[in-house]
Amino acid sequence: MPTALITGITGQDGAYLSQLLLKKGYRVVGLLRRSASADVIGERLRWLGILDDVELVDGNLTDLSSLIRVVETVNPDEIYNLAAQSFVAASWQQPLLTGNVTGIGAVNVLEAARIVQSNARFYQASSSEMYGLIQEPVQNEKTPFYPRSPYAVAKLYAHWMTVNYRESFGMHASSGILFNHESPLRGIEFVTRKVTDGVARIKLGLANELALGNLDATRDWGHARDYVRAMYLMLQQEKPDDYVVATGRTTSIRDLCRIAFSVAGLNYEDYVVTNPAFLRPAEVEVLLGDATKAKTILGWEPETTLEGMIAEMVEADLARHSRYQNS
Ligand code: NDP
Ligand code: GDP
Repeated sequence: MPTALITGITGQDGAYLSQLLLKKGYRVVGLLRRSASADVIGERLRWLGILDDVELVDGNLTDLSSLIRVVETVNPDEIYNLAAQSFVAASWQQPLLTGNVTGIGAVNVLEAARIVQSNARFYQASSSEMYGLIQEPVQNEKTPFYPRSPYAVAKLYAHWMTVNYRESFGMHASSGILFNHESPLRGIEFVTRKVTDGVARIKLGLANELALGNLDATRDWGHARDYVRAMYLMLQQEKPDDYVVATGRTTSIRDLCRIAFSVAGLNYEDYVVTNPAFLRPAEVEVLLGDATKAKTILGWEPETTLEGMIAEMVEADLARHSRYQNS
């Protein structure tokens, strides 16, 4: 039975990746950072019904000694580094923490692997945010990067360190440049989930409006369930490499609102207002990925449409709020 160590197991992708690897017969061990809210921290794993099927070990991305101890005790065949301060907007408020966790933290995981178990296969959660001020209309593995936030700069550092450890130490280290991916388990502060949660609250009479920032930005949105499959496939290849994972379709926030409100039979124009508080100091206006390499080499294909995913998210948020209302 192969063993996978997942940092960020309590996040969206960690939960779906755990589900996938458990189905494939893996022993799944997740890094858990100490929190006073330990009782709610496994909520996403519980939602998928797998909290009792994974092992959780204490550690923190900013504490190299904890990572060395974890790699020593867990003895992983595969390490998926998904942990990060992952919210772009927060990275301007906490640039140093973002650098420490999202940038240096990834190198701490690489170091723990190199020192203790350099033959473990390593996955780095890189991001389309690294393209930022896009240098080509459609972005692939060869497109130059131009990060536009402290988050994206930190991710770019971690990305190049992953490439460097592969080239310097011969480690099986791969970097997935994943475009935005969402699900009912997406953090509530991200725009898709903020919108689907807003739709549910308005539909149930719990809110009258939804305040957003820039409605004209566009994103290439896929489903997290599809994207974790690409992570797994990267580590099954003989040779480590970097891959773009995207759907090849970009949609504005405005159209996202149109789709989400229509799932509940509502017109977004009646409820969405704009508030400058949600604008960013520097914006990433457009992202659109070309996943030809992942499709050709990994045999990866996305299975969920944007409309299907948004409907799933609205239904899940309606169910959540109805449950609270009735309790
Ligand atoms: P989430 O924000 O949902 O999860 C982040 C995870 O990192 C959580 O488990 C969190 O733990 C953990 N974490 C944060 N700080 C630390 C720390 N100091 N030590 C240990 N663990 C820590 O992110 P997603 O699941 O959405 O994304 C997974 C990865 O992929 C992230 O690195 C993200 O930046 C990257 N990415 C995501 C994309 C997306 O669209 N979702 C696109 C491209 C890249 P806790 O639960 O305790 O907060
Ligand atoms: P990101 O691509 O990782 O920054 O993912 P987000 O979901 O946080 O943001 C996607 C896009 O939605 C960005 O261009 C934001 O500026 C835009 N956006 C517009 N209004 C909002 C909002 O209220 N919250 C968030 N998070 N994003 C918003």
